[in-house]
Amino acid sequence: MLGIVKDCPEAGILLTGNMLRTRVALESAPNRQNRLDVVARHRATARTGGPEAALEDKAPDAPCLKQSSGLALGLTDLRRTKGLRGIAKAEAKMRVIYIAGASHTGSTLLAMMLNAHPEIIAVGELFKLNMKLTAKNAESGAQAPCSCGASSLWQCEFWSQVNQHIQSKANKSLNDLDVQAYTDFNENSAPNAAVFRAISEVSEKKFVVDSSKDLARMSYLLKMWDSNCHPIVIIRDPKGQISSVKNKYGGFFAHILRYERVYEQLRRRLGSSPHSVVRYEDLVAAPERTLRSILQPIGLDFDPLQLNWGEIPNHFVGGNRLRRLRPSNSELILDERWKHNLTRTQVNVIDLLTIGSRRFRKGPHRN
Ligand SMILES: [Zn+2]
Repeated sequence: MLGIVKDCPEAGILLTGNMLRTRVALESAPNRQNRLDVVARHRATARTGGPEAALEDKAPDAPCLKQSSGLALGLTDLRRTKGLRGIAKAEAKMRVIYIAGASHTGSTLLAMMLNAHPEIIAVGELFKLNMKLTAKNAESGAQAPCSCGASSLWQCEFWSQVNQHIQSKANKSLNDLDVQAYTDFNENSAPNAAVFRAISEVSEKKFVVDSSKDLARMSYLLKMWDSNCHPIVIIRDPKGQISSVKNKYGGFFAHILRYERVYEQLRRRLGSSPHSVVRYEDLVAAPERTLRSILQPIGLDFDPLQLNWGEIPNHFVGGNRLRRLRPSNSELILDERWKHNLTRTQVNVIDLLTIGSRRFRKGPHRN
């Protein structure tokens, strides 16, 4: 079933087709088993062009299409997807899953797969929240859109609910809370604690995924929440990661040094403390087994819906294009374009200079 995604060098994925049919059918399926059946049927249809195509005729009448122009699914839809399975209530203590590692390693794909779990919400690179709430495009003056299709986070139903929740609790706007303030470790007063808590309570999901990948932020969250913050380190073959960054920004040696520095700093910071390690290549080749290994340390089971990650609505801050150009299916193929984009000499240089990070990949940290 490995197929995939087009045109997303950061995650090595290619996007194809239209996801609306599956989403409409998911909306109308009355219970979790029916929804799983829908997923299975649509996967088969994607491969064979079978009878599910009839659903397309009904799509224009679907409420979610009327309200969202076929793109933006809001909080109502988010809550409906939670009905796929018993959802952890907000009274359970909120926990943070923090994705760490270098850029261009597939962290957005991993976040989308985690977001598809009924007990998890992923919100992208949360350390960019204030910037995205205020930034405007220099040419158009437009604000940064939400991955759900809303023209800005302020226009997004989910983030609007988070803002209202914070206003009701602390009489502050969401943008009054500086998520890059790393000096307050008190769960009752820290801006980050208020934002995470509001996300968890509005979505009614116990686990909140932050894929910021910033080391200082990870250290801060670990100090504040200790075992209630679980880091997942994502690693990609350095040849694939460096080739991807090189294609986007040019240069070469600086990317190798940066790659090594990121994983050396993570190795020192995390030491023997609890964390998971996932390889991008494993996630693509064996998603179920790999997701199981990630979820087991935090007490969760793999859910089959996670293989349907492309059809689950999300409200990501930051991250790569994949979060916005949501695919019509969730099939995957491994991006190994580095085999064509790098010279033999460049491959040898990368192999020679990334010996240090290989200790991380193969070391005792891996679950
Ligand atoms: Zn949104």
